[in-house]
Amino acid sequence: MKCSFQVFGMSALMVLVSGCRLLQPETPDERNFAVNEVHASRNYNARIRQIVLHYTVIDFERSLAVLKGETGRSVSAHYLINDRPNKQYPDYIYRLMPEDKRAWHAGVSQWGRDANINNSSIGIEIVNPDGNLHPYPDEQMEAVIFLLRQLIERHQIDPVNVVGHSDVAPGRKIDPGSLFPWKTLYDNGIGAWYDEADVEALRKTITAVPSVEQVKADLGTYGYPVDATPDADETYRAVVEAFQRHFAPGRIDGEMDLENYRILKALLKKYR
Ligand SMILES: [Zn+2]
Repeated sequence: MKCSFQVFGMSALMVLVSGCRLLQPETPDERNFAVNEVHASRNYNARIRQIVLHYTVIDFERSLAVLKGETGRSVSAHYLINDRPNKQYPDYIYRLMPEDKRAWHAGVSQWGRDANINNSSIGIEIVNPDGNLHPYPDEQMEAVIFLLRQLIERHQIDPVNVVGHSDVAPGRKIDPGSLFPWKTLYDNGIGAWYDEADVEALRKTITAVPSVEQVKADLGTYGYPVDATPDADETYRAVVEAFQRHFAPGRIDGEMDLENYRILKALLKKYR
């Protein structure tokens, strides 16, 4: 018998008497709730907007245990990149969760208008004890490049949004470190880098570092979180260090010098 429900009148009584379940009259299939996709909105952006690179500090096996959640720590990443494949762990690239899930890799963070970067990024942990001291092996970097090419293509990531943990959490994090080969990545079509010709041209027009306010504004325009903490001066130095670690790793001291500033302006000219 097909159930119908009217609040008032005899049919409700009859339904109750006949034992039908009023709230489950039919299965959804029977109702044919087709999703109509004729009307499309143009007002949206991508959920995944950044790729954040890290080094693990610890070796592959221990990194795997931590990132899988076996040690009780609330940290994770979408990908873990091995440094020395072996019989037990024969691959370079390990995916630990689907890319649409939210991994816990960035912590308190900001890039451009996005805060809490875990919400909008893919996290990649690269096995290295300290990327400020230990160079990344070539073959491991080839694996990183292979993976990044796929991710950038799949999610249409802006070059400026391929970043290090230190870029999005300056003063708190120093990974993937000053030895991470950002320029090599750029030469392989990944991420942002300045054009030397632009810097050369700017040597003629920029002959002094402007005020801290102006430098901060320029760093902020590029994406750096210049106003992230209450202590403005310390934040500024930390952000300059993060910038140097990425684009001018020869000297990392929190002092924006003339050549650093020309590099920043060359990046802005090219990307912003
Ligand atoms: Zn990190």
